[in-house]
This record gives sequence, structure tokens and C-alpha cells, in this order.
Amino acid sequence: MKLYMSADIEGITGVANWDEAQIGHPEHTIFRKIMTHEVLCACHEAKTNGVREILLKDAHASGRNILLEELPDFVKVIRGWSGHPFSMVQGLDGSFDVLFMIGYHSPSGSLGNPLAHTMASSIIHEMRLNGHRISEFTLHALVSAYYKVPVTLLTGDDEMCKQAQSLIPAIVTLPVKLGFGNAVVTKTPSKIYEDYKPAVREALNVKLFKECIPVIPSSLTIEIVYSKPTIAYKYSFFPGAELTDESTLQYNAANIFDMMTFIQFCS
Ligand SMILES: [Zn+2]
Repeated sequence: MKLYMSADIEGITGVANWDEAQIGHPEHTIFRKIMTHEVLCACHEAKTNGVREILLKDAHASGRNILLEELPDFVKVIRGWSGHPFSMVQGLDGSFDVLFMIGYHSPSGSLGNPLAHTMASSIIHEMRLNGHRISEFTLHALVSAYYKVPVTLLTGDDEMCKQAQSLIPAIVTLPVKLGFGNAVVTKTPSKIYEDYKPAVREALNVKLFKECIPVIPSSLTIEIVYSKPTIAYKYSFFPGAELTDESTLQYNAANIFDMMTFIQFCS
């Protein structure tokens, strides 16, 4: 089996503040180790359960968080950002059997995580698809559906796990912490490292795969509510996009690639 793994940091065990997610900040050194170890646990258990090849996207901020020396030789890593609109799953295609999302987090406008956001946290207040608030998980799960690759595992904050199950009821989730206002109630890394074993085992049960490809909606209306009207104005010149109020830009995408291209250029 060939596995694509996309890893973010805001949904990693313990992370409760932006300092901990920011490369160059002393606290980042602690949490990049935990992120790396969560990824490592998933890789080892995947190998035990029949995965031969893993493409890992370091999908947070600079794309340079995961400590490469810790990773085994059957993993290749995408570091940095190519500029491809598929963003946190760039490089994914129909040759993969399955997709895992590690360290994912609640969307902008949610209380599920003190670091809740959708894509560009500094400028986007909320993102909606067909009138409903959308997370980075949903955006990239739809990219996966575009290639008919199932998404069978999500780890991250409790609220994100619940939202993932509402899109893909059969998905295996591993909740690592609960958002509590501007705080988190977190499990410990040692507990979570152990919990990866049964979660990954279950997520690689091929009987699950058919049920874990979300349905792509027949129409794709994306709305981005920006933190400032001046930003919305600037991006309103994207061909086909229109302002529906001072801060909200709407775009009717022709397909998933078109939707992700709009998001790439307007955030
Ligand atoms: Zn991130």
C-alpha cells in the first residue's frame, strides 16, 4: 500500500499557543519534536500493517517543522511549498491507496482550538462552502475525493475529530486535546503515541476504504470572510469572484481544482 500523510501542528498533542507553532521560537523546538514523534508512530504502525511507501507533507507554515533524521527510510517528505493549489496535500494523486491527516485543527470561527483557523490565519475570519463553515480538513478531503483516495485517519483536536466524522462517518479519529476557551485540556504525548497503534491499524483496514471517500457537492460556492474589507477589496479582482458585502468574497468554482486555485490566490 502507498500512503499519503499530511501533518499540521495546531492539532498536535499539547499545542495551545501560536508561539509553540512558530519556527524560530524556542517553544517550537518542543512541539516540533512531539509532531515528529506522532508522525513517526503513524509511519511505523503503517509499515506493520502493509504500507510500503509514504509521502509525507510537512503542512504547517514554512513546511519545515518535522525533524527528518527521526524518520525511517520508507518515507519521503515534501518540505516547503511548491505553489500547487492542492496545498496541504500537494503531490497527492490517484496512485495513492489512502490518506492520513495528522495534527489537524478546528476551523476559523470555532472554539474547538485556541489556534482555530482555516488557511491564512492572519487574514481570514471564516471560510464557507455552500453556506457552511469549512475546515482545512474538509477542503483537503475533497481534494482526496477528486482522486478517489479515501481519508481514513484524522488526529487532532476533539472538535475537529467530530467535524471529520460528520463529513466521513466511517473515518477513524484520534482526539488528542479539547479546546477550552483560550486553553486546551490535553492528553500526554506518551499516551497519544500508544494510541496511534490501534488507530492506524483500524484506519488501514481496507474494508473501510470505500466508505471514506466523501461526496463532492454538485455545486461549489466558496465564501471567504476576511478580517478587513481592504483585503477583500484586493482579492475581489480575481476573475469570477464578487464581493457580497464589504468583507466577504464569493466564488462559484467549476471543480475542486478551480476551488483550490481560488483559495490559493485569494488567501
Ligand atoms: Zn498549521
